[in-house]
Amino acid sequence: MLYPMKLIQLLLASLFVVSFNSCGENTENAENNEETADGNQETVAEDMSVLDEHTLSNYFDVKTTHLHLDIAVSFEEKKIKGSVTHTLENVNGVNEVIFDTKALNILGVTTDGGNPANYEMGEYDELLGTPLKVEITPETKTVEIEYETTEGTEALDWLMPAQTAGKQQPFMYTQGQSIFTRSWIPVQGTPAIRITYSARVQVPTSLMAVMSASNPVQKNETGIYSFDMPQPIPCYLLALAVGDLEFAPIDYRTGVYTEPSMLEDCAYELADMGKMVSAAEKLYGKYLWDRYDVIVLPPSFPFGGMENPRLTFATPTIIAGDRSLVALIAHELAHSWSGNLVTNSTWNDFWLNEGFTVYFERRIMESLYGKDYTDMLALLGYQDLMRTMSEEEPAMQSLKLNLINKHPDDAMSDVAYEKGYFFLRLLEQVAGRDNFDAFLKAYFDEHKFQTITTEEFVEYLNTNLIQPHNLTVNVDEWVYGEGVPENCPKVVSTRFNAVEASIEQFYQSGSVESIQASDWTTHEWLHFIRHLKDNTTPSQMAMLDEKFHLTQSGNSEIAAIWFEKSINFGYDSIDKELEAFLIKVGRRKFLMPLYTALAATPEGKEKALAIYAKARSNYHYVSFNSIDQLLGYQP
Ligand SMILES: [Zn+2]
Repeated sequence: MLYPMKLIQLLLASLFVVSFNSCGENTENAENNEETADGNQETVAEDMSVLDEHTLSNYFDVKTTHLHLDIAVSFEEKKIKGSVTHTLENVNGVNEVIFDTKALNILGVTTDGGNPANYEMGEYDELLGTPLKVEITPETKTVEIEYETTEGTEALDWLMPAQTAGKQQPFMYTQGQSIFTRSWIPVQGTPAIRITYSARVQVPTSLMAVMSASNPVQKNETGIYSFDMPQPIPCYLLALAVGDLEFAPIDYRTGVYTEPSMLEDCAYELADMGKMVSAAEKLYGKYLWDRYDVIVLPPSFPFGGMENPRLTFATPTIIAGDRSLVALIAHELAHSWSGNLVTNSTWNDFWLNEGFTVYFERRIMESLYGKDYTDMLALLGYQDLMRTMSEEEPAMQSLKLNLINKHPDDAMSDVAYEKGYFFLRLLEQVAGRDNFDAFLKAYFDEHKFQTITTEEFVEYLNTNLIQPHNLTVNVDEWVYGEGVPENCPKVVSTRFNAVEASIEQFYQSGSVESIQASDWTTHEWLHFIRHLKDNTTPSQMAMLDEKFHLTQSGNSEIAAIWFEKSINFGYDSIDKELEAFLIKVGRRKFLMPLYTALAATPEGKEKALAIYAKARSNYHYVSFNSIDQLLGYQP
């Protein structure tokens, strides 16, 4: 319905720009060059040949360069209310600016500081929301929109005190990626343009607000907090969390925010954060976002982490007590380069964010914890990739995607992460590490504070790595092809080989005594449980459980895979702990395999629905939207 019209519109725009450029005009480029906070030249959205199909905005004609939020967060009403002021750059001198909104009440629109503006809401699209069309002139500098969020918001998660660690105060956080920001702020909802932002946020005085920006380190009496993000970011990185928060520094530029009762544990778990930033800088250049802090959220957070700049949002399921799951922090930190500094132009190019980040994450882990450790991570990633490939439809198996009519969240599979990783690992192997590192460092530097398409990357790769070093690489097969190419790098882990030997002995001897697990890391345990044979019996599971107490594991990764295997093998002594886990934890990565395993049998599905009825209200939209579909659940 909406798409054909939009596509024609986009095609016309791209034709216009192509012919414009072919005339050799440089004014467009000159106008689009802006000074960033760091004094670097950037070029914003200048390549119009690939346009984002997940926005209804006319960002190619007129775009926001800065936005200011003035909002109040009401827990009584579960509502954010206030105004957003967009500073515009009217590239093509048009008379209308279009913003994306979804499930927002628009209360009024003015321009240039108070002149009433004509505006209208366009046709609602289930995937993309409702365009807000505001009449402007080519001279209009700012548009102010007064608005409030509604119950239909997809970005906001409102938690009752009972859903927090402290149980006394409510909590709220946002999740912007992929296209959710439009459901808490009217924005041009595309990663293709970058904005700076500032904010004034009013919250109850017992709580503290933090954002993906310069942050307070303690509560103040007024409940009013001011924020500034001087580096330009794509709008999916706009983020806010409000709760009973405290801060603990790790070193001079890193630290952790969380609820008071969790602060000590979190600070212990994340003690290596400062070292991680230094290791990352050594690899691929200076950290350009000033501070790197992490907020550990309540367990409903749907992801492992979200790389909101300056302030990674993280799940508490990484707090294992033994620092064994901190690769996630290395991952989110790596996004400070891949994703936040160099951003995918559209969600079809999502692998440019994630594949690079997984590669970078593992390089950070290697420099801190060694190659053996990192090879275990890479092999677990390879297993994830193979599992995903066996489940994913062919069209979703390529790095470059075509997500038209699909939600960008569909791109969030191991294809982007792990196939992307192995492609880069192959490039490293073929070019040699020194050459590849020099290439990557230059790639980040030359594209910082810009967006990039897959096609632009491939061209850059050819010009700067493949041709200069005379390499032969099947780039097209990796980027545009289905499945995993034959020349995927093989990872060998001696530690995992020993685990596999233990598994064999266990089945042969019928005894758990042969399993020498006293020095196993979390990753060895994951490898072990993943490789239990399909015909494992409930009594064999019971033997393992009795010796190693896996049902009671406080490690969320181990618990999740153990529960999944237990469901598959009919070992139901886990039922109580499984239910508690599903009610407490909202991380989609754990929920999907568990609900899928349960739903494989009629009795299991009944169990799944009964648990889900109790658990659903604890999940963020991102998670319950996926599980609604999985279980055919009608809310
Ligand atoms: Zn990531």
